[in-house]
Amino acid sequence: MRLPGGIREPRTHHCHSNTTRTLTSATLNHICTCPVLGSHLQHDAVKDVLKHLVERLGLTDAAVTEALSVAPDGETIKADVRYTDIASGKTVILEVKTAFLTSDSSVNASARRGFDAAKSQLMAKERECREHPVIQGILNAPGNSTVFHPCVISASGGMGPHFVQFLRESYERAKVTGCWNMAAQPDIESTWNTRAASTYWDMRLSAAVAVTAADVQNRLIRRDETLNLRVMGSPTATPTSRRTRVALLNLHGGGRQLPVRGRCARELALLRFRC
Ligand SMILES: [Zn+2]
Repeated sequence: MRLPGGIREPRTHHCHSNTTRTLTSATLNHICTCPVLGSHLQHDAVKDVLKHLVERLGLTDAAVTEALSVAPDGETIKADVRYTDIASGKTVILEVKTAFLTSDSSVNASARRGFDAAKSQLMAKERECREHPVIQGILNAPGNSTVFHPCVISASGGMGPHFVQFLRESYERAKVTGCWNMAAQPDIESTWNTRAASTYWDMRLSAAVAVTAADVQNRLIRRDETLNLRVMGSPTATPTSRRTRVALLNLHGGGRQLPVRGRCARELALLRFRC
């Protein structure tokens, strides 16, 4: 948004429930988290790649997305990805959380200062995922056989430390299951510049969230620009004032004789009669 040709400030933004707000350089980050066009799209893009990942790394035969999971007290949660680990036989739940490290709601001025600040925010999101009451109920149940992994990823593709550790362990498993060498998996998209599973899937995950976030933000900006266009008058409006008539004539060539058809022709004839 800071590049030449980027959006101008202050900017009238058309937000949810037909509300408008004026965005300045201090609040422009709202575009990153605005829910109007679906901020969940980034989350869903990562979720779909994760399902693909655990299956193609040979961790499971089949993973399910949006899987209803029940705690002992009857409370439920839709697990983003759930599968049975082939090696351990345990149920694994992956919960995706996207983080916007520059959004007004998640950061203050001091937290923008470096990698440690970003990492601490990602870790806070991980704790938030893990402390969900239903997840805690499942994990603390007697005889529990469920493993939980919070998969926190920023809008620019940076991952939380637990997510990174989960991926490292998964890639080690891929070396055993024969899914490490991408050249041996020709049915997976091969145009990505890598021969190792770790690089391939890291790129897929980061690109999923970054590309989707950029697409949503671009459409939000274009939507605002369209809704902010000035309306100068309508060629089909009933002329009721001299100003309207002049505007209408200007629209059709400044009052000069031009070939017109249909309704426009009838309106111009009516205008000349009234003038
Ligand atoms: Zn908004």
